[in-house]
Amino acid sequence: MRSPILDYLDTIIAETEHVVSGESADYIPELAAADPDRVAVALCTVNGTVYASGDTGHRFSIQSMSKPFAYALAIEDRGLESVLHHIGVEPSGEAFNELSLDPETGQPRNPMINAGAIAAHSLIDDDRQSAVDRLLALFSQLADRPVEIDEAVAASELATGDRNLGLAYLLHSSGRLTREPRSAVEGYIRQCAASVDVRDLALMAATLANGGVQPNTGDRLFSRAGTRHLLSVMASCGMYDAAGDWLTAVGIPAKSGVAGGIIGVLPGQVGVAVFSPRLDPHGNSARGVAMMQRLSDDLGLHLMEAN
Ligand code: GLU
Repeated sequence: MRSPILDYLDTIIAETEHVVSGESADYIPELAAADPDRVAVALCTVNGTVYASGDTGHRFSIQSMSKPFAYALAIEDRGLESVLHHIGVEPSGEAFNELSLDPETGQPRNPMINAGAIAAHSLIDDDRQSAVDRLLALFSQLADRPVEIDEAVAASELATGDRNLGLAYLLHSSGRLTREPRSAVEGYIRQCAASVDVRDLALMAATLANGGVQPNTGDRLFSRAGTRHLLSVMASCGMYDAAGDWLTAVGIPAKSGVAGGIIGVLPGQVGVAVFSPRLDPHGNSARGVAMMQRLSDDLGLHLMEAN
């Protein structure tokens, strides 16, 4: 029998159809070419059951939704204290690609903006494997299937990556980058070009909801303490400069990406993922935010809800 949860997800898609404001990201040419009317939503419980509706098989680049996972891997590798030496945990209130570091510490303000994400990426290189290979292996473990890079997106962003390169040089000059700037940016851009669908993302989010254990395989991918730290940073810094609005209105740790995806994590309960390419002025998927708002209201997902 068809689950009523699927009917509910269909309703969310139908009832947010009117949200057509915003534009697909245009600073990465390959993203500007995306079909703006694609839409999908998925939900995964902490025991690994996935419910999905809409263009569920459509793959798109993970973009900034890769940042939480790269940061968590850096913490596993190096320990929290060492990572906190390189990257802060304060909301920046600035655009994701702002060309600035904390003037007092010289650190990127947090790992969810590009400066912090480039620093986190460069912390996960090891002697045997590149950071990109390690991240692809991690994404594949999280999604429980082989995840690959969308080479067209990677090439498109590499050709227009001057701003990220500028950030990497800034980081390097303040001693917060452990790699040569150009190779750090190339790796970071490839990390962002990993190709996923909403089911993959819901499973990835559910792993965080499950305290770092992938629900299908039972593999512990992140420590409990590292996961809790990460979710706190997502709650305060995950939605670009709209993080305060997001936390008050939707109330779950989340991360969005410029291809139009958003993941949300309700600890102990569920991981959710939505996709719709048109972005609001903050760079978050406009219809995606509307879908997340509905899920939060209807299912009582807001963290501050006394239920
Ligand atoms: N790869 C994108 C960039 O660095 C990611 C931005 C995003 O999704 O916020 O510009």
